[in-house]
Amino acid sequence: MTDNKTPETEAELSGATPRRRPKADVLEVGGRKLSPSTLMMGHAFDPMLSEGSLKPPIFLTSTFVFENAAAGKRHFEGVTGKRPGGADGLVYSRFNGPNQEILEDRLGIWDEAEDALVFSSGMSAIATLMLALVKPGDVIVHSAPLYAATETLIGRILGRFGVTFLDFPAGATEAEIEAVVERAKAQGNVSLIYLESPANPTNALVDIEAVSRVRDRLLGDTNPPIAIDNTFLGPLWQQPLRHGADLVVYSLTKYAGGHSDLVAGGVTGRKAWIDPIRMMRNTIGTISDPNTAWMLLRSLETLELRMSRAGENAEKVCAFFRDHPKVESVGYLGFLQEGTRQADIYKRHCSGAGSTFSLYLKGGERESFAFLDALKIAKLAVSLGGTETLASCPAAMTHLSVPDQRKQELGITDNLVRISIGVENADDLIADFDQALKAV
Ligand SMILES: *Cc1c(COP(=O)(O)O)cnc(C)c1O
Repeated sequence: MTDNKTPETEAELSGATPRRRPKADVLEVGGRKLSPSTLMMGHAFDPMLSEGSLKPPIFLTSTFVFENAAAGKRHFEGVTGKRPGGADGLVYSRFNGPNQEILEDRLGIWDEAEDALVFSSGMSAIATLMLALVKPGDVIVHSAPLYAATETLIGRILGRFGVTFLDFPAGATEAEIEAVVERAKAQGNVSLIYLESPANPTNALVDIEAVSRVRDRLLGDTNPPIAIDNTFLGPLWQQPLRHGADLVVYSLTKYAGGHSDLVAGGVTGRKAWIDPIRMMRNTIGTISDPNTAWMLLRSLETLELRMSRAGENAEKVCAFFRDHPKVESVGYLGFLQEGTRQADIYKRHCSGAGSTFSLYLKGGERESFAFLDALKIAKLAVSLGGTETLASCPAAMTHLSVPDQRKQELGITDNLVRISIGVENADDLIADFDQALKAV
């Protein structure tokens, strides 16, 4: 955003002021490009536009006053999509707001994205993206499994509007992905390739680079976007735009929010694909509220600290679990076996193993429940990516409604405990898990 002294000619002619937000920012110092964790403290906000307030105020207003009528017209050209890139100024809080715009600018930094949008939840981000990009008769090709609500949205809700889908397993080879895309082409117009990596709760990684090559080879004429849900490793440990994705989706409720105290979503990526999604968001009103956006600005300041600590903790905890006699195996990205396809994808795509993993206990539901009920520090709750450690049993909770056959295929067994490690002291966590295993 810019308060450049030389507004573009069109803006001058229309009598409107240029964007009110500063591009104030120092993006580099002495030729050194600043890193995201530095930029999270000040990027895209000029205190002098808000009485010198160091932190952005929360702008609780439903509408914004135009400088003059021509400015109002110009802003609406942005809102309605007559002019790409969104509104040049603030209009009405269903379209944009200062807190949300600052947040979007900062979120985009992590992915080195051209543009970003924030939403009222991860699911409203995904739903808005899909409503913007698919139409009746289209086919969505997706990796599997997906977050359960995303599968419901594609299969049951978009299905009612004549959209069909075909999927491939998350770990599929390039040839397997190609075969599915070939079949999808025969079925209809492929307008979206939708990925989730790592998959929940299997932690299987998708080869984004392979998907991108297949798209270019088989769908080069229509060039549908590749969108990926990066909630589990993003934005710190995986940057999908670098590997051929066009759009990255987040449940900001998880690691980005990081304190289990808000619900929000985000999409970052190429401007050409963000524009239609923004148009849809403007129409249906799935933008996040100013208060939540403000909380996320605070969260992003500590994102790298929190995620790094959680990642280190997870490494120590998983090392403890790995050798424990009551543990069958640990589904942790840090333990991928050298030479396997998954390890190869990991090396090319990820810079860290995350802090969410699957613990397979020896036994079944009785053992999982005994373990969960004995925990004293870790809380028994679904969700992930918060400062506190959470544990749950997917087969009995998040994935309860998944048919048994499908659960079997996905490895969602009764002895699987899903754990999201927080930023507590690692040795305290290990002591807790140790005593809980004793209770099994
Ligand atoms: C939680 C989650 C979502 C949904 O996000 P909400 O903020 O709960 O709407 C989508 N994808 C993944 C991978 C998630 O973990």
